[in-house]
Amino acid sequence: MDLGIAGKWALVCAASKGLGKGCAQALVREGVNVVITARGDEALQATAGQLRALDGGEVRTVAGDITTPEGRAAALAACPQVDILVNNAGGPPPGDFRDWDREAWIKALDANMLTPIELIKATVDAMASRGFGRIVNITSGAVKAPIDTLGLSNGARSGLTGFVAGVARGGVAAKGVTINGLLPGAFDTDRLRSGTQSAAKKTGQDFDVLWQRRLQTIPVQRFGTAEEFGAVCAFLCSVQAGYLTGQNILLDGGAYPGTF
Ligand code: NAD
Repeated sequence: MDLGIAGKWALVCAASKGLGKGCAQALVREGVNVVITARGDEALQATAGQLRALDGGEVRTVAGDITTPEGRAAALAACPQVDILVNNAGGPPPGDFRDWDREAWIKALDANMLTPIELIKATVDAMASRGFGRIVNITSGAVKAPIDTLGLSNGARSGLTGFVAGVARGGVAAKGVTINGLLPGAFDTDRLRSGTQSAAKKTGQDFDVLWQRRLQTIPVQRFGTAEEFGAVCAFLCSVQAGYLTGQNILLDGGAYPGTF
């Protein structure tokens, strides 16, 4: 299926690795021009090289922390116009809410709620004036089924999800702009592996035992791949998905046990 977005410009945040990279890859394959960001330049350049080899859209890079005003300004400046915005940043650490002070909360809110809101604010009106826009917020399955130890993520991402539910249905909806959440369950990325590694270290258990145990909880009996995450993201950005807005699409191999 031709997604009808070749030649559009996309800003894909936090995209040198993992899910953001998967999204950038799928968009470039569709002929979308992308600006990808990440904090470290080395991994970013390596990813840019791989994306350019796909021979799809143009690939630009911006090294910087997307959770800072400077990082966001640099990312926006590199994109001639933002037709597609994929919001993403590193997730907050796990822990016990009794240990989190105001600073820990502000950091999580900055990264996983206020940064996407700032980027939506900076781009959504221009999208509406051009009559086309796609915003995909990478959040987490924790928005639907909160995970006890990920309280910072549960809170910050739920705040973003509530905000977006309103904005997506506001004036921009009638002007060709869609805003959706894409909720990853367990995907085989650096984040999942390092999280499992720290859990193994903390509990004195073997990495492989924990990895297999987690895998058994997923009905499809495997972890998701960044490529399949990217494919769904690209579809949400397609012209065909113009009637799909204000939704939260869970991509978790069936792990969420509810009917809806
Ligand atoms: P990852 O660690 O594999 O990749 C993260 C990417 O984001 C890297 O390119 C890194 O350089 C970049 N990045 C991190 N913080 C940044 C910042 N402040 N500014 C710019 N770039 C930054 O992680 P992932 O697994 O792809 O996860 C992406 C998001 O999805 C995270 O918020 C994570 O919490 C969430 N998530 C992931 C899973 C999963 O199973 N992988 C599940 C639920 C939620």
